[in-house]
Amino acid sequence: MENEKKKIVLSCIQPTSVPTIGNYLGALKNWKYMSEDYDCYYAIADLHAITVRQEPAKLRKQSMEMYALLLAVGLDPEKNVVFVQSHVPEHSQLSWILNCYTQFGEASRMTQFKEKSLKHADNINVGLFDYPVLMAADILLYQADFVPIGADQKQHLELARNIAERFNQVYTPTFVVPEPFFGKVGARVMSLQDPTKKMSKSDPNPKASVSMLDTPDMIAKKIKSAVTDSEAKVYYGEGKDGINNLMSIYSACTGLDFAQIEKDFDGKGYGDFKAAVAEAVIECIKPIQDEYSHLIADKKYLEDCTRLGKEKASYAAQKTLRKVMKKVGFWQV
Ligand code: ATP
Ligand code: MG
Repeated sequence: MENEKKKIVLSCIQPTSVPTIGNYLGALKNWKYMSEDYDCYYAIADLHAITVRQEPAKLRKQSMEMYALLLAVGLDPEKNVVFVQSHVPEHSQLSWILNCYTQFGEASRMTQFKEKSLKHADNINVGLFDYPVLMAADILLYQADFVPIGADQKQHLELARNIAERFNQVYTPTFVVPEPFFGKVGARVMSLQDPTKKMSKSDPNPKASVSMLDTPDMIAKKIKSAVTDSEAKVYYGEGKDGINNLMSIYSACTGLDFAQIEKDFDGKGYGDFKAAVAEAVIECIKPIQDEYSHLIADKKYLEDCTRLGKEKASYAAQKTLRKVMKKVGFWQV
């Protein structure tokens, strides 16, 4: 119905590097589908990005490139709210308040903090620890009903729900308690070099992931050198993490299910399978790459869209923050 209020969706991506096909198949592809049925807020999470040391000029450039890529995957800046997190200061403000409604113990259980602490042992900063609380602020600020996340963010969303419920209970209902929204396919893409770990755009090993802007040649090479096993038989099974991952990617790109893939590659080796996976990935992302190359050449258009996103996001964010500050008991004049 035309006047019916649409459900609200929020999701973020960090401008830490060019997105991978993991980001695309696990998140961005679903963002586009969701943008048709929901009121969507999509943010470039630059505040999150500095929990790991970033080079300033690179961060700025990557934020703009990420913005162009979001438009290239099909998000409409007029219909959706596509914005940069640091342009809306309410994220930091609400995050501080929510810190005071988060227990140290529950935050200490977050596995991403443990993983990232190991990776960045020389810079285990408080922001890295506090990341999930900022993420809770991102979500709760827009009263999001759904958060389309990859499996890697499940624990963080659970924390956001707990914080929302706690705040609602201490005061009166203030926040919508968000639900996770998992995409149908490719929910978790693994590293090509260590298929027991998820593919990450900030992985320093370039062979571990396929970026959304890789050339066909690079894609073919990376998939060819993906770690598999010595059995040389294409099927989904235990102890076959590498092949399972390639099958998931292939399935997400072609729409074929595992049974069909197993049948199609019966009697064929990994060489043939990898070539087919590479071709499917190249085909799948080509239209996005074409659109991206147009957009990135038009800085003025990108900046105009970003400003529009900032205005729309600020309107909703201010409304929630005002409510929260009042409930907490801040003297408002
Ligand atoms: P970083 O290494 O900087 O954390 P990332 O690849 O994990 O980068 P994020 O910006 O943290 O990307 O996440 C963006 C979105 O992509 C999130 O919704 C996240 O759940 C999803 N995502 C990240 N990695 C994967 C993956 N390997 N498979 C599926 N979805 C993923
Ligand atoms: Mg991540």
